[in-house]
Amino acid sequence: METSRGREHNPASYFLDTSTQIGRRWADEQISRKVRDDLFGKKLRCSIYVEREYRCRVLNQLIKLHIFVTASKDVEEAEQRLEKCKHEIDIDDLFYNIGKRLLKKYNSKKPLIRYLERLIEVDWENFFYDAVPRSLCDMTNCTRGADAPKYQHGYYLTIPTKCPNNCKIYDFWNSKRADLQNLAQIDTSKFAKTNDPKGTMGQIQNEAQAILGGKSPHGDPCRTVSDAVISIEARDSYPGITIHTMDYDFELLKNILNTQVRFFKAYKTA
Ligand SMILES: [Zn+2]
Repeated sequence: METSRGREHNPASYFLDTSTQIGRRWADEQISRKVRDDLFGKKLRCSIYVEREYRCRVLNQLIKLHIFVTASKDVEEAEQRLEKCKHEIDIDDLFYNIGKRLLKKYNSKKPLIRYLERLIEVDWENFFYDAVPRSLCDMTNCTRGADAPKYQHGYYLTIPTKCPNNCKIYDFWNSKRADLQNLAQIDTSKFAKTNDPKGTMGQIQNEAQAILGGKSPHGDPCRTVSDAVISIEARDSYPGITIHTMDYDFELLKNILNTQVRFFKAYKTA
């Protein structure tokens, strides 16, 4: 126990979960710096499934900002309208803050739009693969979030976030039957409301039971149990690796799936 605990405290390599990948680049500067410091000097690994989950969130949020700025008369007007339009343009807190910062930084529309376009087309990838080798594991072949953003008449269309028919999640769960059974038997009463405020463990348990009962794991279920998929991919693709995450769900899953987890708490609320 002592040795495994020691390894956990100072692992040589980290598997970056989507939340860490987002946190190390897109969170407020103070937080993203803390995340980068925590990763410094480690070997970093990731997966294609995480890359696509990242694209679903980051690219679509950037596209919504791009649409908003493009449709605004100028930077001043965009800055004035951003708060009022936050829900209308369906932007989350993280990217709302990014939008606010950018609108302060740029004083004209064109260079800001060019900057957003570069992020959407190229730079997101440089950030994602910063210190991460390109050859990533892919146990599901799920192409949710893999489509390139389409550009039409000056606007991007958000990328589809639906798990497609060719996702191999069925084969994945077939080969990870024991994990699926463990997930179906989660003792949710053990997780007090304070531990699992989003109720994720209950949702994962329900889906795992349904999949075992014959429900197709395609589509929404693929996303519902994505934290479990990522945990298993990390554990089995990179033996001994520690999952680095800012999402407490991984901490809740670690004893069920026998993973090593570093939950990095940088936000005030979990
Ligand atoms: Zn899928």
